[in-house]
Amino acid sequence: MIQPPATLGLLGGGQLGRYFVEAAQGMGYPVWVLDPDPASPAGRVAARHLCQAFDDPDALQALAGACAVITTEFENIPRPAVEWLDARACLRPGPRALSIAQDRLEEKAFLGEIGVAVAPWQAVLAGQTPEVRADAGGPTFPAILKTARLGYDGKGQVRLAQAGELPAAHAELGLVDSVLEAQVELERELSVLVARTADGSNEAFPVAENTHHEGILHLTRVPARVGDEPRERATAIARHIAEQLDYQGLLAVEFFLTVEGELLVNEIAPRPHNSGHYTQDACTVSQFEQQVRAVCGLGLAPALLTTPVAMVNLLGDLWPAAAEPDWQDVLAAGRARLHLYGKAEARSGRKMGHVNVLGLPGEDDAGAAAATAEALWQGLAKAVGRTVDGGMA
Ligand code: ADP
Ligand code: MG
Repeated sequence: MIQPPATLGLLGGGQLGRYFVEAAQGMGYPVWVLDPDPASPAGRVAARHLCQAFDDPDALQALAGACAVITTEFENIPRPAVEWLDARACLRPGPRALSIAQDRLEEKAFLGEIGVAVAPWQAVLAGQTPEVRADAGGPTFPAILKTARLGYDGKGQVRLAQAGELPAAHAELGLVDSVLEAQVELERELSVLVARTADGSNEAFPVAENTHHEGILHLTRVPARVGDEPRERATAIARHIAEQLDYQGLLAVEFFLTVEGELLVNEIAPRPHNSGHYTQDACTVSQFEQQVRAVCGLGLAPALLTTPVAMVNLLGDLWPAAAEPDWQDVLAAGRARLHLYGKAEARSGRKMGHVNVLGLPGEDDAGAAAATAEALWQGLAKAVGRTVDGGMA
């Protein structure tokens, strides 16, 4: 068990890292953050910000020398850096989980090997003539071509109506290694966070229901509007994946529930997740404290919902030019909790903050919380001339 005041290390310095740092430092663990951005949200609150590239030898040396355990808030750490750290320090999660989560080809292959269903897919590799597999197991159309590496928030993806569009789509993505997968008809999108420690104990958070706008998470509500069967199956699959990876830390699993009732895994993330922000205000433990507990080998806290909740994301699109949004309505709503990441520059699509709206303890449904969260978002959107669906008026 790693006890305070041991120093913890963190690879990546975004908002997920900022909350990890706050949770850890509140428990007495100073945190060192490695992130090349001088304005890194986590770096600004950390005991030390190593403002270097993820593969900078001196920075890696410093982390390995100072930290009792090193964890991640960002999966796209170069493989040599991950392996170097793993050989000299305690890295949780380890290289295998990070490697699988940072490459959609490896991820799909791994999920198939451990018997987890995914959307029908095939590889489309760099340097090969892109051809759609003719056999029955391949993707159907419409389909989506996704870069194997470095995609996020719907970036690095092209939609295809038919097979003939593949060469152009592959060219649009720069002819890099990619995954072509069937676009499935979604009943719901769900996610599950599971924490697991070195001794194999694990704890899953309640299933979240997610709505996206243009590939970016917009709203999360918990409890999810699904029956007990898919709810329990999603939780069991998330635990199974963590088990099969011999995972140490906090793992997020994104799911598609199709209109046919099939539960498919979309992707996994070896870190806290945007859809887990609801845990900050509506659970017996936050995803960030649970990550600290998992990587330090403490007892995992029961991860139970205390009230129904809805989380709405605040993207840079809600910021007026050279000004701050008017937070009056959000701040006046006693059941709304405003969280801002302290990012100076508000770009379109950039995650700037979120609002958690709590339901009443007696309610068993997040409908009222979701309606309030949506109304608060609409008010902010209207002030900058955006329409209901997130597009421009
Ligand atoms: P990212 O890494 O950007 O989160 P995802 O693969 O999760 O990439 O895609 C983002 C969103 O796009 C998903 O949450 C979902 O709303 C939509 N999407 C992605 N793949 C599919 C698919 N095969 N079928 C239907 N919708 C999809
Ligand atoms: Mg995703």
